[in-house]
Amino acid sequence: MNPTDTKGEHTMPDYTHRITLSNQRALVTGASRGLGAEIAIVFADAGADLVITGRDDAGLDATREAVKKKGRRCLSVQADLRTVEGPRVAGLKALESLGTVDILVNNAGVVHVDSLLGTSLEHWEETLNVNLRAPWLLAQTVVPKMIEQRRGKVINISSLAGVLAPEGHGAYSASKGGLNLLTQAMAAEWARFNIQANAVAPTVILTAMGRQVWGEPAKGDPMKARIPARRFGEPAEVADLVLFLASSASDFICGQVLRLDGGLSSV
Ligand code: NAP
Repeated sequence: MNPTDTKGEHTMPDYTHRITLSNQRALVTGASRGLGAEIAIVFADAGADLVITGRDDAGLDATREAVKKKGRRCLSVQADLRTVEGPRVAGLKALESLGTVDILVNNAGVVHVDSLLGTSLEHWEETLNVNLRAPWLLAQTVVPKMIEQRRGKVINISSLAGVLAPEGHGAYSASKGGLNLLTQAMAAEWARFNIQANAVAPTVILTAMGRQVWGEPAKGDPMKARIPARRFGEPAEVADLVLFLASSASDFICGQVLRLDGGLSSV
């Protein structure tokens, strides 16, 4: 969108028409709980129809019902993103159900807290396959249609641990650091087709994953004390940033890794 006409006057619609997903079709992975569920519900509120993925049927049902209550269409697809077929089938089912995917949110992720020397091959492969390979495979499936329609958004949910390397997160940091560079590569190749790829990099958000790693006060309290905001983030704070990146209000933001960290990486 060109923000000004030749006389230098603003031609953009007002912000309420820019920060909306009305008539948009979105695929959100890992939406059976946590950040993915929150993002799907916020997207539905903003007017998007959805395909959501995960493995846990009960969790997917709950998110699907919440989306439907907002008056939007929602199909849930069970897919194991550790495999090569899982992401491909999820992408194809989304295309079949929605016709196209305007917004791809690669949110599903997994963490195992292990020292590098203690990391098993199984944990390494699961972490790299779900957090890094699946986003690439999903994009390979749905981005050709975005290129055809000359419009699209890819939002990768990374982590501050993809920018810094907290102890015990070696495989996770490698996967998220890779995801950050994958995001830049996506922007480099696809921005010319009016497709914006960006990543968000949160510090601790108290979802199931956040609690798994930081839920014990003995571990969580010193971490909180290091964050200038002196608190962890809320799922809604991640979803709001993802909504902005999915909307046309962010059409000139490409290849960025936006840190949502209460100032942690600034000190
Ligand atoms: P969560 O509560 O553990 O949810 C993870 C989601 O990923 C679930 O919906 C899970 O679905 C899905 N998933 C995991 N393995 C999968 C697999 N093999 N196949 C398909 N789906 C799989 O985690 P969260 O906190 O919402 O995290 C969401 C994203 O944010 C992740 O990428 C995470 O790395 C990132 N992040 C989280 C934090 C945090 O503190 N919470 C901080 C920074 C970044 P099923 O179990 O149904 O398969």
